[in-house]
Amino acid sequence: MKKNFPPYDEVVKFHGHSCPGLATGYKLTTLAFEKLNELRSQDEEIVAIVENDACGTDAVQYISGCTFGKGNFIFKDHGKMVYTFICRKSGKAVRASRNPVFRKKVGNLTRDEMINAILSASAQEFVKLEETSGKVPVKAQLYKNLTCEECQETVMETRIKEINGRKLCIPCANKEISS
Ligand SMILES: [Zn+2]
Ligand SMILES: [Zn+2]
Repeated sequence: MKKNFPPYDEVVKFHGHSCPGLATGYKLTTLAFEKLNELRSQDEEIVAIVENDACGTDAVQYISGCTFGKGNFIFKDHGKMVYTFICRKSGKAVRASRNPVFRKKVGNLTRDEMINAILSASAQEFVKLEETSGKVPVKAQLYKNLTCEECQETVMETRIKEINGRKLCIPCANKEISS
């Protein structure tokens, strides 16, 4: 089964501009999905794990359909341009990262040249794809909501900080600490 991915231009519209980060995200995601499609049964739900929050993650969300709101888009703050796509049922997964050799090769290009080089690169020279058996992190549980004693806004209980005996939301707690 060959999947048709949205063209790069469409992803540019979604993101707001074209940039090497977006092109990289586009390429990593489409190549990872081609690999994943060989592994999964058609309608299996996919979970995406991204290890940074840069431009490229807009391409991940647009192409994969995994989004923050649906809860199948998970951000791990590792500062690495690495994406893992997991089939929820089978646990089959593909981890996509950039081929370090390619990075060095395009390092001296102008921005536009770099975007073109990324988009036209072959899978082999551009990406490192590893089959893994990904564990899907437990879905966010439903926590109780509490009221911040300062701003009176509703806050998930796991995000409440207790400062001087008062239960505060994170922004109010930070203000309290710095005052
Ligand atoms: Zn960008
Ligand atoms: Zn508050």
